Amino acid sequence: MLNFYPGPSKVHPEVRDYLTMAYDEGMLSIPHRGERFVLMMRELVALLRLKLNIPQDYYIFFTSSATECWEIIAQSLTPNKSLHLYNGAFGEKWYEYAKRLKPDCYGQAFGLEEVLDVPNLPVEDDTDVICVTQTETSNGTQVGMNTLLKLQNQFKDPLLAIDATSSMAGLNLKFIRADIWFASVQKCFGLPAGMGVLVCSPRTIQRAKGINERKHYNSLVFMHEKMLNYQTTFTPNVLNLFLLKKVLEKRPLIKNVDQLLVQRAQDLYTFFEEFMEMDLLVENPEVRSPTVIAVKGADRWVQEAKRMAATQGITLGNGYGPWAKNTFRIANFPAISDSEYETLRNFISGQYH
Ligand SMILES: *Cc1c(COP(=O)(O)O)cnc(C)c1O
Repeated sequence: MLNFYPGPSKVHPEVRDYLTMAYDEGMLSIPHRGERFVLMMRELVALLRLKLNIPQDYYIFFTSSATECWEIIAQSLTPNKSLHLYNGAFGEKWYEYAKRLKPDCYGQAFGLEEVLDVPNLPVEDDTDVICVTQTETSNGTQVGMNTLLKLQNQFKDPLLAIDATSSMAGLNLKFIRADIWFASVQKCFGLPAGMGVLVCSPRTIQRAKGINERKHYNSLVFMHEKMLNYQTTFTPNVLNLFLLKKVLEKRPLIKNVDQLLVQRAQDLYTFFEEFMEMDLLVENPEVRSPTVIAVKGADRWVQEAKRMAATQGITLGNGYGPWAKNTFRIANFPAISDSEYETLRNFISGQYH
């Protein structure tokens, strides 16, 4: 079965062996305050820095999901309000969720084909955090690193928080261009769902200490205090931490992973553009995501394509939100091999030429 669903997505095949290894090495019942845990965590943090190019002075935390990171940002870093810039379902969900915790949060939607118009954003004075979804998994758009640089230069005071759930560990993110980055491991990391990675600038930690919100088990100040000793506030997902470490050991540096994915995305976009029956959902190449590819067609055609693919053992990702019926999505993640995309292309060429 080939799985092109953009999350939960295909896990690295090596995970099968790593699972056994975790069991055999007794990792599954180590205490999370003990020496072995701390040693593993220390190595994992160093590996994340090395392989993903995370600056030395940025802090790394582990949560249970990306969704939890939305909550942590609203609780621990937003005494007043956050601004949410969104063009799809995940960005909007983040906004709605933040608003329930902090009612003054406000949002600004932008168009599917649109590059964020940074100079004209309505940023209010007491905005604590500006929130951006780097890769909008629901529609296959991305906010580029240049746009983040513009945001950073224009709005000096608010923290810049980036949902990079479908790009971290796939694209070469420029971590210095924002304060807060987070992702879940079931997308580009190629791991089973159930864990999030949160990366924070020194300024973010300073801000959290100033605000000093201590009402939740995952208040950022608590997480920071624990992580100084390579520990977590709660008993964490030790298995997934172990798997993450094993997978990262084998991963090339992110600039090489990025090169491979960007090239593969270009090839896939060119390929899908050739067919009469389908269009790319996102017409503007500048905002197309390299990691999530959305292909549009007539509702009935899309249903039929998904059904036919399934009979060949190929899972195409369903569309999402307003594009649920007239698109399918293809994950372009590191765990999926070139030969699997070859199989996909052969299937499509066979059906539609
Ligand atoms: C998948 C996804 C999430 C949610 O991840 P969880 O692990 O379910 O919390 C959030 N944001 C984006 C952009 C996503 O793609």
